[in-house]
Amino acid sequence: MAFQNCLRGSILTIDLDAIADNYRILRETANPTKVAAVVKANAYGLGADKIAPLLQNSGCNIFFVATLDEAVQLRSILPHAEIHVFNGILPGWPKVMIEHRLRPVLNSLEQVNLWHKHAQNMQTTLVADLHIDTGMSRLGLPPNEVEKFLQTPLYSNTIKLDLVLSHLSNADNSDHQMNLEQLNKFQAITKLFKSKRFSLAASSGIFLGTNYHFELVRPGIALYGGNPLPGKPNPMAQVIRLRAKILQVRSVDTPQVVGYGATYKVPGKMRIATVAIGYGDGYLRSLSNTGKAWIETYEIQVVGRISMDLTTVDVTSVPTHLTQVGAFVDFIGPSQTIDQIALSAGTIDYEFLTRLGQRFHREYIGGH
Ligand SMILES: *Cc1c(COP(=O)(O)O)cnc(C)c1O
Repeated sequence: MAFQNCLRGSILTIDLDAIADNYRILRETANPTKVAAVVKANAYGLGADKIAPLLQNSGCNIFFVATLDEAVQLRSILPHAEIHVFNGILPGWPKVMIEHRLRPVLNSLEQVNLWHKHAQNMQTTLVADLHIDTGMSRLGLPPNEVEKFLQTPLYSNTIKLDLVLSHLSNADNSDHQMNLEQLNKFQAITKLFKSKRFSLAASSGIFLGTNYHFELVRPGIALYGGNPLPGKPNPMAQVIRLRAKILQVRSVDTPQVVGYGATYKVPGKMRIATVAIGYGDGYLRSLSNTGKAWIETYEIQVVGRISMDLTTVDVTSVPTHLTQVGAFVDFIGPSQTIDQIALSAGTIDYEFLTRLGQRFHREYIGGH
């Protein structure tokens, strides 16, 4: 096996072909609308340096990141792609934006003014996106600022608007009334900013229907195998597999207890395996006493608290030849998807993915 010489006890496998498949699925769903790729937070923790070039080879040429440093990093990987920065600019940043040919999403009149002043000083026109708040109350110009923006003709001398965008707050729930409310508000916005590109939908929004697509959609989580339709079958391909090795197996019996806080009381004769994964790797502590794992086709249960580097699982039902020291326990993979494990951890696939740490041996497969 390829990991025989690997010095780490846990392995994260990232299937690049599955990511390319997911990009294709999203393109078919959004067709003929263009599909950008959101690769913020190091491609949701999975490695922007590997994934961004793969997506570019799959036909994607528009990328979004959250922060300026992510954008600078991405520019060094993708010298020719269009790179947009969701969080926009703070004082001191416009110069870096321009130097690396990055496009800020301007989220407030302060950001608009910052970009405007910089363009004035340079005696030029600078390209930017504009984010309009249609109900999220997070980033974006609220209605009164949109009005002020439109009433300041000076801006049109300095800022060349490219994309006008907004973000849905409830797209993962197709029945939620806010989807239609935000769509209506955004459609009204498109009439105020004639002849520009517009974008409203992220992963879940793509599946709300073609009237949510406009000129560009911006999926993130769906590319990485997250479920854009929570509660329904996941239309995306599974991207990651997470396995860790057994370090030790012990036979236990009553009245023994397991782990920190003695939260698990052994009910009878059992075999417990200690596995090389813990919350320090991103295997969330909230899965203590509730997490499920697999050894081949045998489903097993986490017993006791998850600690920083270790997790204990009940392997009583698994044949002993499969529970030798060094054998693999499957935590995420064919038996348990990322959205399923996130649900049992009391969180969402977004958080689970981005918490997966740097301690795993990372193996990329496919992508050729
Ligand atoms: C993160 C983000 C996205 C991507 O969202 P997903 O739900 O992961 O597809 C799109 N647009 C904005 C503004 C974002 O912040």
